[in-house]
Amino acid sequence: MQTYKVFADYHTHTYYSHGKGSPRDNVLSAIKRGLDLVAVSEHGPGHLTYGVRGKKLARLNGELASLCREFEGSIDVRRGLELNVTGFGKTDCPADRDAYDVIILGYHKGVAPVNRLALHIWGESLLKIKGDPHRNAEGILAAAESCRADIISHPNLYLKVDIPYMAECCRQMGILLEVNSSRVTLSRDELLAIKRAGCGLIIGSDAHTPERVGDFALASEAVSDAGVWDIVKNARPE
Ligand SMILES: [Zn+2]
Ligand SMILES: [Zn+2]
Repeated sequence: MQTYKVFADYHTHTYYSHGKGSPRDNVLSAIKRGLDLVAVSEHGPGHLTYGVRGKKLARLNGELASLCREFEGSIDVRRGLELNVTGFGKTDCPADRDAYDVIILGYHKGVAPVNRLALHIWGESLLKIKGDPHRNAEGILAAAESCRADIISHPNLYLKVDIPYMAECCRQMGILLEVNSSRVTLSRDELLAIKRAGCGLIIGSDAHTPERVGDFALASEAVSDAGVWDIVKNARPE
């Protein structure tokens, strides 16, 4: 049977937010796992409790730039950011968005809504008011368009979205959907629908400790079960 190797981890956190290790620890762990590429993609500035912003974000970016130089030739170190959906079509994207190598967008709790349309989304998540997965997808897709996201992390987490619709739009927009290896949020049927839509997947560890960088076990199991390795953009046959 054909096996696949995931060679890049675009989704890792550090002690700059609520993770445990340093950016350097993540890089060393990625090398140990035999990855070709690792990104540190901290929580965006809009998260009330663990968003990285201001001078702290500048310090992190400086650290990543020097790690990139130091490890040149042994691993590709990238500067990422996991932005928050702050409302319908809204994110906490910083003004220097283009200085980042990879922009992930995720729906998280703990973000102050910035417009009234967001209440629709927040109502479902916090007050358990039943929302419309199609409308939820539209809100997140509009947000992804506004920040020109590369990846949408853990779709369905905290907020159910219409995956076939999201996948169709993401194919058109060139956005990848994440199979999150901390908690798989996509069912087998949804993974198959993503493939049918011609949309690509990306596997991310969402590591909050250095030990978990490059840990793709849960996501790999889900991808194998659905038989969709061929659409995983950060995996290759081995
Ligand atoms: Zn997240
Ligand atoms: Zn994350």
